[in-house]
Amino acid sequence: MSLEEGMRRAAQLLSSSHYAVALTGAGVSTESGIPDFRSPGGLWSRYDPSEFATLSSFLEDPSRFYRAASEFLSVFTAEPNEGHRALARLEEMGILKAVITQNVDGLHQAAGSKRVVELHGNLRECRCLSCGRLFPIEVLAEKIVQRGEIPPLCGECGGLLKPNVVFFGEALPGEALREAFELVRRCDLLLVAGSSLAVSPANFLPPMAVEAGAELLIVNEEPTPMDAFASVVIRGKTGKVLPELVERVGKLSRD
Ligand code: NAD
Repeated sequence: MSLEEGMRRAAQLLSSSHYAVALTGAGVSTESGIPDFRSPGGLWSRYDPSEFATLSSFLEDPSRFYRAASEFLSVFTAEPNEGHRALARLEEMGILKAVITQNVDGLHQAAGSKRVVELHGNLRECRCLSCGRLFPIEVLAEKIVQRGEIPPLCGECGGLLKPNVVFFGEALPGEALREAFELVRRCDLLLVAGSSLAVSPANFLPPMAVEAGAELLIVNEEPTPMDAFASVVIRGKTGKVLPELVERVGKLSRD
């Protein structure tokens, strides 16, 4: 299918859907300057995930995690890009009912998306692994950046502070996972944007949607394991493709 044909069919699918839901990954935020994991040059090419992004490795040597995480500081100053804004616009138009995201950067909300289900937690908060208290992430950032306190410790009990994000080997937040399953079972169109679909259990969602009878639309720079099951695959940058889809959907509704 040519790019033009793919764009045309994708816009039709979106405008004729009754309950479209998006599933996003790190790819939607690369154009905001946040590196993803699996693109060439992404974090995976420089760090072994088993060495810093699993709960057991974090507990074994938190300093190693915090040193690698300094590459991720762009998350705190990043701004939403045209791809995030296009998804917010689709929600405003009444087409998209929710965004389920694997991202922890909060950029969908910053772009104006209202219903955002965060499968992997968020970087707005950090948690003390001893007393369980939650603090704003600024508390952790100040300790690391201003005071060089690595690993950062809880001001109340001296326990280890961890960003409130899900590490490999950790369970996903139950409420978010339940909501995601419910949305995917109900949707008639699942739009996957900027995800390699390599991370479980988020990558269970597209097959679940297809099995329940939904159309699958994938916008990603590289192939994914679900491409063969998609009604339309568009290979391109979300910051370019999604705004163009919004424009086409708007035009279809005016015609
Ligand atoms: P991933 O790194 O596995 O895959 C990203 C995919 O996006 C790749 O297939 C790549 O080809 C594609 N991509 C990159 N830039 C793109 C663009 N501009 N337009 C279209 N496609 C683009 O990411 P994932 O599937 O989300 O899984 C990785 C895990 O990493 C997730 O659990 C996520 O929580 C976490 N993560 C989050 C962030 C963030 O919050 N911004 C950043 C890095 C990693």
